[in-house]
Amino acid sequence: IVSVQGVHKYFTRGSERVDVLNGLNLDVAQGDFLALMGPSGSGKTTLLNLIAGLDTPSEGQVWVGGNCISQLSEGQLAQWRTRHIGFVFQFYHLLPVLTAYENIELPLLLLPLSGAARRKQVRTALELVGLNNRENHRPGQLSGGQQQRVGIARAIVTDPTLIVADEPTGDLDAKSADEILSLLQVLQRTLNKTIIMVTHDPRAAERASHVQRLDKGRLVVGNAAEH
Ligand code: ATP
Repeated sequence: IVSVQGVHKYFTRGSERVDVLNGLNLDVAQGDFLALMGPSGSGKTTLLNLIAGLDTPSEGQVWVGGNCISQLSEGQLAQWRTRHIGFVFQFYHLLPVLTAYENIELPLLLLPLSGAARRKQVRTALELVGLNNRENHRPGQLSGGQQQRVGIARAIVTDPTLIVADEPTGDLDAKSADEILSLLQVLQRTLNKTIIMVTHDPRAAERASHVQRLDKGRLVVGNAAEH
């Protein structure tokens, strides 16, 4: 469902060119839960951003769900992201003045849906993450783990093609992290969702169905665990 083909990404810093991704190839199948690991600065977030259409490659192509997204214009890409990508962030990125329900509803306001359809989808997402009884709480009234559940509900509410998560457990204690990883596994195993997660935590990576390691902008070959 995701195919990264010969992708290079470089940034210019002053007169210097910094190569962050060096001819990278990666395929992710529908229903995979992929953990991306690797040292700091190896290019994990850069790769995730290219796959999520937040950035475009300097060379090469990125395909998601049959679309070559590296050829879309900025405006087309923004629309495509709204429909096809669910984002989960390390620090949740919830709006503090909105309730859990309203935060989850936000991405739906960008789609042409009736109020009734929106309510139904928010309810389904709330139920999936087990927060029915917290829908009127604001982020400040929720624990970190609960805020991340709201984050995950917001990511799945549009029924995206792909969920991308950048260090989703990076700000959580071990128990809450465990619960969040279990939830991601449920999304994968029960709903056949495709998930790509960047993580530094080997215990988090163990919960994924595949692990890929990046080093200096390349995938480390022969070290990709499968389970
Ligand atoms: P970490 O685990 O620390 O988050 P990472 O593997 O996710 O690291 P990236 O965030 O992808 O690494 O960054 C890889 C390299 O690319 C870093 O050296 C970073 O400084 C550089 N980089 C990323 N974005 C830009 C940018 N917009 N302009 C210049 N350099 C950038």
